[in-house]
Amino acid sequence: MNEVPTGRRARGVYLHVPFCRRRCSYCDFYFEVGHPTAGFVASVALEAQARHGELVWPAQTLSLGGGTPSQLGVEELARIVTRVRHFGLDDDAEVALEVNPEDVDEAFAHGLRAAGFTRASVGLQSLDDDVLLWLGRAHDRARGMAALRALVDAGLDVGVDLIVGVPDERPTRVDDDLARVVDAGVGHVSAYVLTIEPGTPLVQLIARGRRRRVDDDAQATAYERFQDRAPAHGLLQYEVSSWARPGRESRHNRLYWQRGAYLGLGPGAHSFYVDDDGRARRRHTTARLEAWRADPVRAAAEHEALDPAHSLREAVAFGLRDLQAGVDPAALARLHRTTVGPAVWRALEAARSRGDVSVDVDAASGPGFGPGFGGPAAGRWRLTARGARFADGVARDVLGAVDDAG
Ligand code: SF4
Repeated sequence: MNEVPTGRRARGVYLHVPFCRRRCSYCDFYFEVGHPTAGFVASVALEAQARHGELVWPAQTLSLGGGTPSQLGVEELARIVTRVRHFGLDDDAEVALEVNPEDVDEAFAHGLRAAGFTRASVGLQSLDDDVLLWLGRAHDRARGMAALRALVDAGLDVGVDLIVGVPDERPTRVDDDLARVVDAGVGHVSAYVLTIEPGTPLVQLIARGRRRRVDDDAQATAYERFQDRAPAHGLLQYEVSSWARPGRESRHNRLYWQRGAYLGLGPGAHSFYVDDDGRARRRHTTARLEAWRADPVRAAAEHEALDPAHSLREAVAFGLRDLQAGVDPAALARLHRTTVGPAVWRALEAARSRGDVSVDVDAASGPGFGPGFGGPAAGRWRLTARGARFADGVARDVLGAVDDAG
């Protein structure tokens, strides 16, 4: 087994750009309605300068999310890339951002490429006008298609986010969306089942009878239909909500599931590191724009340090989300300077017996897994296609698998 030293695991930078033109009814991300405030990029540069020592450079990925990063103009986006390159980005780094269709035209798309972006993830949600209207999005199908074409023509690796399981959507809506986006040259699709988050305007709209309630069975059917149909379009599921043509997976998102380190900049951003003593450490910068802007270097932040056993449970629970890579619990235990306790093995075994997880056993370790099953486990545990539908439950079981003595 090749172990990767902590400091040499994948490393990335995330920048949270917390501005949106308007509020989408279903959204519970952190953002402010309006244009980016003057001096935002200068504040990012100050924060990056002060905190760059948290990461071992160079980084392999840079990702701008939000909010709506595409609301920053090309010049400001280019300044951000230049700034991060100054600290160190691999020559073949993935440099990605989220864009909304209404911000994209040909000049913007070519400007992104010239600024060093390699990848764009479009907040498309659907190419069905009825679904877009239901969700309260600002773009329609024509605008969405034009944005995809412009980004693909500019030479960017283009992905889209879709929301499935929207009440009243046509049964064939998933098929139509898949066919159209793949036809346009999209190589990556994230498909999220619509969730009604507390405190969002959608809750009020449903309460007032202006939107229909979601139906759990219909949502499960929509997700399963997506799983069934995507492979025919060359899209393979590699994460609970992500499908890609081989080689076009998101390296930055994989870094989250595979215990990579990331420096999170901007208000509301999370950072994550594994220290040499095996503890996972997380930092969450205040999600208040004005407080952050007043002093981006010393803005309030919550810090969380997990003991090695907790760090390991989290590594297994999150890592399982990567359906292709899966997790090797024994290797993760070495990363976190601990051992895999019996309760974690029992949780994994229970998931395997339900058909939610499969395991490739290392031939050298014999037929059993874990204590009581014939010896120490080796091999990779992966969610199955069925397990992807129950991923949250499997993760909950693993996170809660605390040994009496631990
Ligand atoms: S869904 Fe995206 S564009 Fe809409 S409010 Fe949320 S972050 Fe902004």
